[in-house]
Amino acid sequence: MYELTVTSYFSGAHRLRYLHGKCEDLHGHNWKVEVSVASSKLNQEGVVIDFKVLKQKMEKVLKTLDHTYLNDLPYFSGIEPSSENIAKYIFDHLKKELKGFFATLKKVTAWESENACATYFGR
Ligand SMILES: [Zn+2]
Repeated sequence: MYELTVTSYFSGAHRLRYLHGKCEDLHGHNWKVEVSVASSKLNQEGVVIDFKVLKQKMEKVLKTLDHTYLNDLPYFSGIEPSSENIAKYIFDHLKKELKGFFATLKKVTAWESENACATYFGR
């Protein structure tokens, strides 16, 4: 298997209403996001997917989160915009963007600080 990973960033604000402590109050993060795709074979160009194409698709999804108050997005109306759910949001939306490519989206990791991240592994 081959695995490719690209990294990017977005800034957002959130409140985690049910986590007691500091995270209950409005605050922001500069999330670092890692996206990994995998494939058992390479395309005609000898790659899983062009890094540039993967990065463009990723940026398209991150743009929907950047400089937003995440709690206000419809996706997070019934669930908390935690790093876990943000990773899943990016996974779900990027999965649609990658339809037609044979690179399979494997996981999305959202780093909310240098020391803490959440990863969503899709199926
Ligand atoms: Zn937070």
